[in-house]
Amino acid sequence: MSTIERTLVLLKPDAVKRGLMGEIVTRFEKAGYKIVGVKLKQADAQKAGEHYGEDIATRRGEKVRALLMDFISTSPVLAMVIEGVEAIENVRMMIGATEPKSALPGTIRGDYAHVSYKHADAKEKVVENLIHASADANDAAREIPLWFGEDELCNYTTVYEIHTQ
Ligand code: ADP
Repeated sequence: MSTIERTLVLLKPDAVKRGLMGEIVTRFEKAGYKIVGVKLKQADAQKAGEHYGEDIATRRGEKVRALLMDFISTSPVLAMVIEGVEAIENVRMMIGATEPKSALPGTIRGDYAHVSYKHADAKEKVVENLIHASADANDAAREIPLWFGEDELCNYTTVYEIHTQ
């Protein structure tokens, strides 16, 4: 069984507008992941609603879902498909906990943000935590085709792959 997986990553509007795209992409490159798809994409209401589906309302509430759908559309997002060894779980580890206040230093959310649920509640906004990554294999299988066509995903060999063969 192959251990190579693909996962969907979105650099959300706070990352894009803060000029952090390069730094965050670099982290994945330095960890040896292969970026097989990348684009800047403005989500419309339909895309936002498909990405943040009913599942998020069940887990986090209708209000959070509505705020998220608005937030994700406030600027383009940088969408990526990242490939690597057990990439789905590994990338989630790199991004850190949902709440930046609780995200450990060394993770993307822990290093570049610090806001809390309490702050988000007080401001009636989403927890701005810079990045989305597919939570599990089911989410990755649903989310990748939502953002990328087959012809937008590239095949090539990185030096990391040559050295880890
Ligand atoms: P994750 O992005 O870590 O997988 P979820 O899928 O549960 O977390 O939530 C999606 C996004 O919704 C989070 O990344 C965060 O931006 C926002 N969010 C989640 N819960 C809340 C909340 N209670 N209040 C405000 N925003 C939230």
